[in-house]
Order: sequence, then structure tokens, then C-alpha cells
Amino acid sequence: MTDQLVIGYLDDVSSADFYQRRIETDDKWMNNAACRGLTDVFFPPAAERPQARERREDMARTVCESCTVLTTCKEFARDHHEYGFWGGESEEQRHQAGFHLIAPIGIRARS
Ligand code: SF4
Repeated sequence: MTDQLVIGYLDDVSSADFYQRRIETDDKWMNNAACRGLTDVFFPPAAERPQARERREDMARTVCESCTVLTTCKEFARDHHEYGFWGGESEEQRHQAGFHLIAPIGIRARS
């Protein structure tokens, strides 16, 4: 399988998995998320530098601290191997807590 085919396959699996997850999950709690509209704070841009990641995650953490659905959000992200900053936790913190990412690109790059 070429790299191009592998990437296409992973994109298809991710999209199908995401859609299935949305069907199976009660995600009404997301309506109360304090991070609504702050996607840029909770998900990294491409090639984000470590210092920029630290600053962005500090901002995200501050938003999470005032969020009424923090516990539910943290459990959701852990159970669904989410990427980005969820429930007061970074990908790396979830990974270190034993909730491993399927393809921990950012963690692998920083290790
Ligand atoms: S805990 Fe943080 S990431 Fe989760 S919904 Fe609230 S603000 Fe968003």
C-alpha cells in the first residue's frame, strides 16, 4: 500500500469512526461547553512550536477551569481517544494517564 493510499484509508476510517461515535454518544453536554467558538485555543495548528503549545494549552486550561461540564468532557475525551485539549487535559496528559491515542503524532514528536 502506498503512503497516499494509507493516508486516504486512515482519513476514511477516522471520518466513519467520528460519525459512528456521534450517533452512539449522548453529547448534549457539549451545548454547555465553555469552549464553544474557541477551536483555535483547543486544537493545535500545523507545526505548532512547543512554547506556543504551552501558551495555547494554558489558555485552554483557564477556560476549562470555569466549565460546568469538565468532568463529563474529560471522561468523554479519555473514552474516545480524542485529540486536542479536552476537560482540562492535553493529549499528552491523557496519554500519560493511560488513555492512549491511536496515532500520538504530537507526543511522538516531543518524545
Ligand atoms: S471542559 Fe474544557 S474542553 Fe471540555 S467542554 Fe469545557 S471548556 Fe471545553
